[in-house]
Parts: sequence; structure tokens; C-alpha cells
Amino acid sequence: MPVSIKSAKEIELMRTAGRILGRVHEELAREIVPGMSTLDIDRICEELIRSYGCIPSFLNYEGFPASVCVSVNDEVVHGIPSGRRIVKEGDIISLDTGVIYKGYQSDAARTVGVGNISKQAADLIERTKLCFFAGMQYAKAGGRLFDISAAIDSHAQYGYGVVRDLVGHGIGRNMHEPPEIPNFRQRFRGIRLRPGMTLAVEPMINIGTWRVNWSSNGWTVTTADGSLSAHYENTILITRSGPELLSVTEEEAENLNQMYLAV
Ligand code: MG
Repeated sequence: MPVSIKSAKEIELMRTAGRILGRVHEELAREIVPGMSTLDIDRICEELIRSYGCIPSFLNYEGFPASVCVSVNDEVVHGIPSGRRIVKEGDIISLDTGVIYKGYQSDAARTVGVGNISKQAADLIERTKLCFFAGMQYAKAGGRLFDISAAIDSHAQYGYGVVRDLVGHGIGRNMHEPPEIPNFRQRFRGIRLRPGMTLAVEPMINIGTWRVNWSSNGWTVTTADGSLSAHYENTILITRSGPELLSVTEEEAENLNQMYLAV
């Protein structure tokens, strides 16, 4: 299946979906406090998404039982919210969620600290974000897809492990569309990027090994060595001049442009 090119009208809908998702993430992050359960986080997230007139895209996706994947500490992705899982001061939590607005999808992940977190954890979160922006340097029309992968990989450095089992993806009417976007170096440079492609780029970085284990619940992925893991993802639009970050608020877009230049 070829990679779809979105029309101006479709892009406008994905922009709206993305702005809403950016706001959901911002508001959700503010609600996280020690003592709440990961199920509390899911309830707040679902309420936020619906308050903006959107559908939570993760809910019931291939049977996933919640609106947000809440992955704590050594959990890499696909943590299932539970009333028994209580978050505590010092934890880091990756929140991966998506919305559907008038049939169009947006997908984004943030990793947030609960209260005060260790410097090691804060550095990991920052490094993961920087890896995403290193990839963004190559996310423009005429560029090659796997140059994004290679840039993410090489920016991780310093002994961090870049998860290989899970990849980014095209996005549009469906949450997962071609192409797959690995976060590590490939043998080839991949397809040529064209204006109107919409992609979800999502590095997952561990403090230790890149190797992961898959839980018997069929979903949750954890680091093989028990080290902390962070995840950062945005839905982007490929344009001639570079990526447009769709899944962020307007204010965030301004700040992130500076971050992008700083990598
Ligand atoms: Mg994704």
C-alpha cells in the first residue's frame, strides 16, 4: 500500500485533531499527582478527549481497554491503566494517546515526572525529546524516511538503548498506515518524503539495553534490564521547508521550533 498524500482539506482536519491532542496532553500532565492510580489518569484523559468533541482512538483499538497507554518507569509502552497501580513521587510516566476528529487521527506521547524525579530520569526524558527533534531535521520533502531513523539513533548515544521492537508510522484516517518508521539506523535510506505525508514519529529510549520483554497480558512492553524508559511522539506533516508539528498546542509549537533549532 502506498503512503497516502493528504489533501489541503484533510490536512486542515488533522491540524485541528492535533491541536486538540496537544491540549489534552498539556491538561493531562497537569493533573498527575502522587497517590492517583493509572486508571484515574485514563478517566481524566478520556473525559478531556470527549470534552473537545473527539473520540479516543486507543479505546478498544485491537481490544486495548483504555483511552491512554500509561507506562510507568521500566514500562516502555502499552501500559494498561489499573485502579491498583498507584503512581508515586519520583516515577516517570509515559502517556500515549490519540484522538479522532471528523474521521481524522492524531497520535502523540509525552513522558512526565511525578513530583520530583532523579536527574538521571530527567536527562532521559530530555534526551528522548532531543532524539525526536534530531529526526525532525530530516523530515522534509525530498528527504529520505530512514534518515529520520538514523538521526534519532545517533542522537541517543551515551549508552542509551533505542527500542527496536516498536516503530513510528503513517497516520491519517487510520491510526496506523504505511510507512513504518524505525528509530534506529537502516541499511537503506528508505522512501522519498513528499509534501502532504503525515507521520507519527515516536522514539522510545531506555537508560540501559534496547532489549525489551513483552508481558503475558499481550500488551505491556518493559525494558529487559528493568531500566527506566521514556517515549516522545508527535504527529507531523511533511512540507517543503520541514516538518509541521501537528500534535502540539500553538504555544508549544513556538517553543518547540526553538528546540528544533537547538539540536
Ligand atoms: Mg504511535
